[in-house]
Amino acid sequence: MEFIDLKAQYRQYQGEIDHKILEVMGKAHFILGEEVGAFEGRAARYVGRRHAVACSDGTSALQLAYMAYGVGPGDAVFCPDMTFIATVEPACLMGATPVFCDIDRVSYNIDPESLERQVGRVEKEGRLRPRAVVAVDFLGNPADYGALGEIARRHGLLLIEDAAQGMGAGAHGRRCCSFGDIAATSFFPTKPLGCYGDGGAVFTDDEEVYERLLSLRVHGKGATKYDNVRIGMNSRLDELQAGILNVKLGHLDREIALRQEVAKRYDEALGVLAAVPQVREGVVSAYAQYILVLESQEVRDGLMGHLKGQGIPAIQYYPNPMHRLPVFAGVENYGEGFPNATSYADRSLGIPFSPYISREDQERVIQGIRDFFSNQRCV
Ligand SMILES: *Cc1c(COP(=O)(O)O)cnc(C)c1O
Repeated sequence: MEFIDLKAQYRQYQGEIDHKILEVMGKAHFILGEEVGAFEGRAARYVGRRHAVACSDGTSALQLAYMAYGVGPGDAVFCPDMTFIATVEPACLMGATPVFCDIDRVSYNIDPESLERQVGRVEKEGRLRPRAVVAVDFLGNPADYGALGEIARRHGLLLIEDAAQGMGAGAHGRRCCSFGDIAATSFFPTKPLGCYGDGGAVFTDDEEVYERLLSLRVHGKGATKYDNVRIGMNSRLDELQAGILNVKLGHLDREIALRQEVAKRYDEALGVLAAVPQVREGVVSAYAQYILVLESQEVRDGLMGHLKGQGIPAIQYYPNPMHRLPVFAGVENYGEGFPNATSYADRSLGIPFSPYISREDQERVIQGIRDFFSNQRCV
């Protein structure tokens, strides 16, 4: 059994994708061509933004966002303590200082109250300039942009949406990648909208930011490629990946609907045994991962071993909160304790989930988990 079944997904659209790949090969124009242009237009319309700038991967998309706003030395960038390191890393590369915030106990997204405390402490200390907050649509569940936007406005913070796990999700009639001042996403193969290699995009409604992103993506180009006006990057999406994304974007809404059905079956079967994902009223999750939170670390480790023994993949997303990573050992935490992020990391487990998981495989996962709990009760 696969953790995320990309082969089953490819079989669904194989004809269309193979055709598109051959078409791109026939044109032999491989970088920033028609497919990229078409994809940018469609992706921007899909999420409800004026502009999309496709780029080489999600980490670069975030770096381009930080660069476009000149985030750098002396700036504090507030990040959730539970995320993938790529949320934080490009801010550090720009010379900014990460400040971690705890997550909410129920949604696992950045906790607005912890953010408020951390911003207050940084302001009071006066060493760093509170500059940006990066909200992650963690596991495909949109962050609380109402509360975050209000805090960002009050403290003059740039609100960045890291929607690497949120493509196709939404809240109150809006789609992920449309929240915040600027949004970044990833098309890594296992993300909700994945290509067959690396890919990413930045979304903005601001014309000046858009122009800057186009320049930054190609070595800080000016009017031409050899008239460079700033230090930029090489962060382009290639035509093959854009062509594949053009095919897959057309199927995304149907996949999101299938994800709701798969999640509902797990919710109903497993909700009595573990904490299952909670999605607020009016919110649609992309279920980038389906995560169970168990009553203790011992139970989580036991279940993980039991499933592996049955040939069922079970993976931790993520085993460590940011403050526990060796690379961030020196980061000032301002007395914040991160109990929710720590407890999530120590008790959570991802189980096989994809839009095209078969009913038989899903039943096997459910039965494997039930067996574990009934054996537990006997000892
Ligand atoms: C995957 C991911 C990224 C980085 O995307 P890549 O395309 O792998 O560079 C950034 N943030 C989050 C939350 C992610 O899950």
